[in-house]
Amino acid sequence: MANYYCKWCGVKHSSVASLTAGPCLRNPVKGAKHELYEGSEKKQYICKYCGIKHSSIASLTSAPCLKNPRKGAKHEPAL
Ligand SMILES: [Zn+2]
Ligand SMILES: [Zn+2]
Repeated sequence: MANYYCKWCGVKHSSVASLTAGPCLRNPVKGAKHELYEGSEKKQYICKYCGIKHSSIASLTSAPCLKNPRKGAKHEPAL
C-alpha cells in the first residue's frame, strides 16, 4: 500500500483524497489543506533551501530554515 505525505507537515495518509481533505497547520497559506509531497519515499529528506537532511518530512518541516526566502518559514523537502 502506498503512503502519501504532506509536503508542509509530513502527515501520512493512505490516499491522496484523504490527505488533501484535512487542514494543514504548517501550510503557509492560512486555512489551506495538506498538499501532496510529489517526491518518492526516501530514507532521508533534504531541504531544498539549505540542504539539511532529516529522516522524515515531519521532522524536517518542524525546524526553521534560515535560507528559506519566506522569513521564519521551515525547511521544505526537495523532491
Ligand atoms: Zn500538512
Ligand atoms: Zn532548510
